Amino acid sequence: MGRIRVLDRSTAMLIAAGEVVERPASVVRELVDNSIDALASRIRVEIEQGGRRLIRVRDNGTGMSHEDARLAFESHATSKIASAADLGRITTLGFRGEALPSIARVAKVTMLTRERDALEGTKVVVEGGRLVEHAPAGCPPGTSVQVERLFFNTPARRKFLRSSATETSAVASLLTRYMLAFPEIHFEFVRDGRATVVPAAEPKARIARLYGARVAGKLHEFSAERGECRVHGFVSPPELARATRAEQYLFVNRRYVRSRLLSEALAEACRSLLPQGRHPMVFVFLELPPEQVDVNVHPAKLEVKFRAEDRLRELLSEALAEALRGSRKSPAAEPRQQVLGAGAGARAAGVPAEHRVREAAASYRAQRAEHAPEELRALAQLHATYILAESSRGLVLIDQHAAHERVLFERFMKELQQGRLRKQELLAPVLVELSPREGALLEENLDMLTELGLEIERFGEGSYIVKAVPAALGDAPKEEVSQVVRSLVDAVAVKDERRRREEAVYRIACRNAVKAGEHLTIEEMETLISQLRRCTSPATCPHGRPTMFCLELREIERRFGRS
Ligand code: ADP
Ligand code: MG
Repeated sequence: MGRIRVLDRSTAMLIAAGEVVERPASVVRELVDNSIDALASRIRVEIEQGGRRLIRVRDNGTGMSHEDARLAFESHATSKIASAADLGRITTLGFRGEALPSIARVAKVTMLTRERDALEGTKVVVEGGRLVEHAPAGCPPGTSVQVERLFFNTPARRKFLRSSATETSAVASLLTRYMLAFPEIHFEFVRDGRATVVPAAEPKARIARLYGARVAGKLHEFSAERGECRVHGFVSPPELARATRAEQYLFVNRRYVRSRLLSEALAEACRSLLPQGRHPMVFVFLELPPEQVDVNVHPAKLEVKFRAEDRLRELLSEALAEALRGSRKSPAAEPRQQVLGAGAGARAAGVPAEHRVREAAASYRAQRAEHAPEELRALAQLHATYILAESSRGLVLIDQHAAHERVLFERFMKELQQGRLRKQELLAPVLVELSPREGALLEENLDMLTELGLEIERFGEGSYIVKAVPAALGDAPKEEVSQVVRSLVDAVAVKDERRRREEAVYRIACRNAVKAGEHLTIEEMETLISQLRRCTSPATCPHGRPTMFCLELREIERRFGRS
């Protein structure tokens, strides 16, 4: 055995990382936990080759500031608890501040994140625990974390990875649990390019989506409460019982957990109701005050300890027994009767169970919402050129033309990529004269220009007939058409092929955008602001000029001698 020695720091860290990151599904679990904690309403999970090649989780949650994005990768850095006392009342899924650093220690992690009202986002790249990049970056609000080269520096772990199909199905069943626990979240799961979309729904509809309407239609809903503990859920009638316990789920404060509690409560409730070796499908949602449950007992947070386990088991088995009895009494009864039989607990409490699920979801989310997204409110227009808007940080000045350019640019680029950029036939074709250089450029780039919506034909030496222009320019007066064509031809003179396309789209956006000097109503300003906020890179116009800046409250206070 040799002598005991203290491991060097990096080996110790790799071992610790291994406790959190066991396989691709554990990476996905930590990332989705984070997205849910960040109040996301949409989460997209993408994996390639079972996660070996790529894992990417994207959310539309709160995002992180430039500084926090880097801090998130430091060990024990968390925004979720502040002290040991908080460990006794955890309301978030994460709390240890260990996930991101652990994942980044055994892989290459690229994170893009942006707070909703921030002018720009941040990119952080960490590989094998080493910070490689931390820089401003354009990205939509929310966070995306991409994990590549998983276990590149821990060959033992890599060897234990199972086949892609096995790892993929581990991720899929993990996601099923989140989909059950968070029906109000829109999920997308893409594996090796194949996408499954699971839109937000009521709890029962979500089950129907996952297990089919036939199964969902037969489930019995139950609900009961004692003191501050509430339980609700669905259980299948005996005819839908399975040979394994795989379809038995227990969620505690919406966290999926494995616990004896459920199997014991079921055993008590089903005794004599089900043949040996048959297990009903069951979905149980337990809600208790956070201090009644200790979630800090298992590295993967899969097990929990209950303060009053006996009381909970009793509560649960009674609710289940009642639901199952109801189902046994009337296997062929009308659906209505079945619902009444199973819903006794809910009726006793006087609130339909479904509403309580929704209420619980709302209160859970409200609890987590410390930081609601900040708004930008338009106040006025300055010199018919700048929009003045109020944000919680101060006064924001927006250049209306640059901002609109950005909005249109991103819209047209997207339409172009999707082949949806429309063209507009001119009522009467317009003849334009081009120089030999312009003519050559035009002919070299005819395909691209046609794609953009320009329909143009050669008409003798140096003359061209324009029959259609990009729809966005459709109302250009006749005498401006030649200017439009020149401008597009000029745009495609750029060397780089991709930039050429962008430049042409930029010209269209620029011509179409509101100009400096145009009066806007408050509604128009609000619309522009909200369109801008949805852009991938709202902070700059397509040519890199700023679209806005913030006069910070601090600065205003300083000038007035208030601070
Ligand atoms: P924990 O979740 O235990 O706090 P993590 O290492 O998973 O630890 O994350 C560290 C911190 O990074 C979190 O506390 C949170 O502030 C931030 N964070 C991580 N992922 C996201 C995300 N998707 N959206 C917003 N903030 C995030
Ligand atoms: Mg976490």
